Amino acid sequence: MSAKKIALLGATGSIGENTLAVLRNHPGRLQLCAVAGAKRWKELGAIAREFDVKEIAIYDEAAFQEALKEPEHFPAGANIRLGMQGLLDVATLPQIDMLVMAIVGTTGLQPTLAAIKAGKQIALASKEVLVLAGKFVMAAAREKDIKILPLDSEHNAIFQCLDREPKKHVDRLILTASGGQFRDYTLEQMQTILPEDALVNPNWDMGPKVTVDSSTMANKGLEVIEAHWLFDMPPERIDVVVHPQSIVHSMVQFVDGAVLAELSPPSMTFPIQHSLLYPERDDGVHKTVDFSKTLQLDFRAPDLKRFPALGLAYRALREGGVGGAIFNAANEVAVEAFLKRRIAYLDIPRVIEKTMDETENFEPESLEAVLGADAQARKNAASAVECFEKK
Ligand code: MG
Repeated sequence: MSAKKIALLGATGSIGENTLAVLRNHPGRLQLCAVAGAKRWKELGAIAREFDVKEIAIYDEAAFQEALKEPEHFPAGANIRLGMQGLLDVATLPQIDMLVMAIVGTTGLQPTLAAIKAGKQIALASKEVLVLAGKFVMAAAREKDIKILPLDSEHNAIFQCLDREPKKHVDRLILTASGGQFRDYTLEQMQTILPEDALVNPNWDMGPKVTVDSSTMANKGLEVIEAHWLFDMPPERIDVVVHPQSIVHSMVQFVDGAVLAELSPPSMTFPIQHSLLYPERDDGVHKTVDFSKTLQLDFRAPDLKRFPALGLAYRALREGGVGGAIFNAANEVAVEAFLKRRIAYLDIPRVIEKTMDETENFEPESLEAVLGADAQARKNAASAVECFEKK
């Protein structure tokens, strides 16, 4: 059996790091053949040297220029490419079997679509790809008969529960949520949350944007939108349940009432390894759940009064069109403004709601139209931030 050849875009981020842990564990089954990153070019070089990867892309121009000046950080004979064209090139190299897409933001859209069109398998971590372009990505994947393997723990869990089940057997998807670090705060306590409070997650080790999103449950909202596209489910058949221990990663309820769940400790190596090896399985990077010790699993309904961002994501999904793109853009702008201490924590969902109220929604006919809506929503969100800005 020859090793599956992987291109990893977003190699220096948190998903990239966990992907490398899986790759180190399965050198015979998985081979890293191309890597890309944005700014942290020295770390990218270290990864390229460790895995002897010669196909490299650096998205950021200044970082690319610096890297060219110090080629000793990269393996001899490395082919270093620049920018979006560089990402597109490494994602579609003829030798690549699978693209692992872990770039944060809208940058991942075009390389993902290009890789699908080139017939590559896709392991997808970038939320924006489906939230903005789910319609186009899923249509392209269907046309090429490619499965999109979700790296997000919730969607990966649902994928595993659904695998080989006919769609008519499925009643609903149940996404679990840690509820974030403020799940037990009162509304009053939430008024004084500061960026330094919001940047810590008790269960998961993630980047700053996702950590804040997890605390507001906007992250779960984005995941509801992703689940809609990945599994072709309407919003009324996607539920969210708060599960503070993050052991049950999500569930599927079938028409007969049976519920299947996937359980593992909160480490991204579990969903990443499942996707990379799919449809095979092999020893994991970490030990699994220990049932010899007492294990408590709690579940409760989310409180949309304290976490309105989740309700707004459902609204975006019900409104359809570019609703997901508007929600996502408004949230990004709001979180950035909160981290810069321009607005209060509870203003984050207010900025999202105001932006959704004020941005025109329509059915997009192209990726360019979605990106247009994204840009418009960012402008409107910036004005909304000014409205709520602390004087
Ligand atoms: Mg998740």
